[in-house]
Amino acid sequence: MYDDNNIFARILRGEIPCKKIFEDSHTLAFDDINPQAPVHALVIPKGKYVSMKDFTEKASDAEMAALTRAIGKVAELKGVKESGYRVLANAGVNAHQEVPHLHFHIFGGAALGPMLVKK
Ligand code: AMP
Repeated sequence: MYDDNNIFARILRGEIPCKKIFEDSHTLAFDDINPQAPVHALVIPKGKYVSMKDFTEKASDAEMAALTRAIGKVAELKGVKESGYRVLANAGVNAHQEVPHLHFHIFGGAALGPMLVKK
C-alpha cells in the first residue's frame, strides 16, 4: 500500500535534499520545491502514512499531536502566524494528491484568494 520510493520517503531517508524548516522525532517540515505562494511549506509525519484516513487510523496520539503542533510552529517560523495562512491536505485522485505520503501544505505571505476555483 505505502510506496517506499515516493519522493517524501526518500527525503526522510536523506536520499534527496530538502530545505528544512522544522524537525522533531515525529515530524519534518520543509519548503515546497515549486511554491504556489510566497510562503509554501510542507509538513509531513515521519511514519509511513499515505493519507489522513491512514494516519488517523494507525498513528499514535503522540504522532498526531506532533504533526498538529508542527503546523502551528511552521506558520510561526515562516512569519505568517499573524498575517494569515492556509493549511491544506490533498487525499486521493479527486484532490489531485501527487505524492502518496501524507503532507500538509501551508500557504501564506500574500492574499490567497478563494479556497477553491469556482467552475
Ligand atoms: P500534492 O499534489 O498535494 O501531492 O503536493 C505535492 C507537493 O510536493 C507539490 O506541491 C510539489 O511541488 C511538492 N514536491 C514534490 N517534490 C518535492 C521535493 N523534492 N521537495 C519539496 N517539495 C516537493
